[in-house]
Amino acid sequence: MLTSMADRDDPREHLRRFIRRSLDRNQPAGRFAGPRCEASEDSVMKSVNPYIGPRDRMIIEQLAAKGVRDERVLDAMRHVAREAFVPEELREAAYADQPLPLGEGQTISQPYIVGAMTEALGLEGGENVLEIGTGSGYAAAVLAHIARVVHSIERIPALARRARETLRRLGYDRVEVIEGDGSLGWRPAAPYDAIVATAEGPCIPPSLRAQLKPGGRLVMPVEDAACGQALVRLVRGTDGEDHVESIQPVRFVPLIGAEGWPDEDAWLAKMRADAGESFSRESYR
Ligand code: SAH
Repeated sequence: MLTSMADRDDPREHLRRFIRRSLDRNQPAGRFAGPRCEASEDSVMKSVNPYIGPRDRMIIEQLAAKGVRDERVLDAMRHVAREAFVPEELREAAYADQPLPLGEGQTISQPYIVGAMTEALGLEGGENVLEIGTGSGYAAAVLAHIARVVHSIERIPALARRARETLRRLGYDRVEVIEGDGSLGWRPAAPYDAIVATAEGPCIPPSLRAQLKPGGRLVMPVEDAACGQALVRLVRGTDGEDHVESIQPVRFVPLIGAEGWPDEDAWLAKMRADAGESFSRESYR
């Protein structure tokens, strides 16, 4: 369904055109009275949607419709069972357009954010990828559908253990979950084609930059004077020059570590100083 250009521009419009063509083609002819009431495109759209599974709806309404275009990313996210990564009591909300709590004060990112970050990495298949902030393991599973191997670091041991179990149970044997401080990267498997951090740092950690191959991409949220936090992409140039660009404003939990924030309190103090009374820890994912 998501293959033609028109389709990628607006999947719902594609569906609507398909319905219109079918309705036109099936007009009653000759002595036949035809159906008792006329179906409109709108009524068909309404009855078509419920039969699309929640994961397909997520792909159409949350990813494609909001601008995620890379078919590798859409395809990867169509394959990963997000419900297996969220806590049991939240399974019903697994495909909702929002982040979900994971326990330990951490969250599994909103599907759109996972899609946008993965797309920004520009993966084509075959890459050696580092993820910082395993959390539930969901984003690592999405990455594993495209890359050759994914090394994912988590600083909270209970989360690392749970994610490792979930990934093993689902057969993601190309994901290695490591317990530790990912702000320093992970030297044993460096250099990387792509690095993604799913927690916000005060700046891009020098260790992460150093572990990128020339031409490699790093995507992470960092402190931004204008909007609080911005998702940035760094492309390591082959001539030693880096190219850095901001992609969009975001809200992530803190990257805590030697090249991140010293602790949650330091991050909270900074966020409160920037946002004042309107700051709410709950809205940071
Ligand atoms: N990618 C995750 C979402 C992670 S939320 C998913 O798909 O579910 C961010 C995670 O980063 C949290 O689990 C937090 O514990 C972790 N984190 C924060 N600082 C870290 C650090 N220095 N090293 C590794 N993990 C870190």
